[in-house]
Amino acid sequence: MENFSSGVMWQAVVAGDEHYDGRFYYGVTTTKIYCRPSCHSKLPKRENAVYFLSAVEAEKAGYRPCKRCRPEVNGVYSPEEELIEAACRIISLEFDREGLAETLPGRLGSSAFHFQRLFKKAKGETPAEYLRRVRITQATVLLAESMLDNTRIAFAVGFRSLSGFYAAFRRQMACSPRAYRQLCRETEEGME
Ligand SMILES: [Zn+2]
Repeated sequence: MENFSSGVMWQAVVAGDEHYDGRFYYGVTTTKIYCRPSCHSKLPKRENAVYFLSAVEAEKAGYRPCKRCRPEVNGVYSPEEELIEAACRIISLEFDREGLAETLPGRLGSSAFHFQRLFKKAKGETPAEYLRRVRITQATVLLAESMLDNTRIAFAVGFRSLSGFYAAFRRQMACSPRAYRQLCRETEEGME
């Protein structure tokens, strides 16, 4: 469980910061109701706010869950976060699929624009950037552990062109696939 200072938690409550949802809860001593940080209920006075690291803890202290933000529901009660989680799950399973980034919003029942915006907000990068990162990470595994050549690896992890693969690889790993493989081999030999 994380440890936040009461100052940090109060700021999160004031800002209604959904990034803290599920990481702590706040209760209002005057109403005996507890909420998620992102709840849009009226802000309590600072001196009336108390903090809990779990919903169970809040309930044990005699607080009732807020009807608006449903803090007692497990995990993060946000359809938007669920959407992003589902997207990341699909990417981790189907990263090698051609055109995955383009078909993802539709598969999740979202518009491309809305999905792009939500994803970027949640992850700090676009779905295409995230997908590219997953693909390159997979490529590093293949470079280290297989004898496949660069072309086979590029297509195996979902790139449509070798030049696209090289550019993305270099951007993420700051070296060429060949140099990366070399380094892995050397490290391995060094350990024997
Ligand atoms: Zn609430």
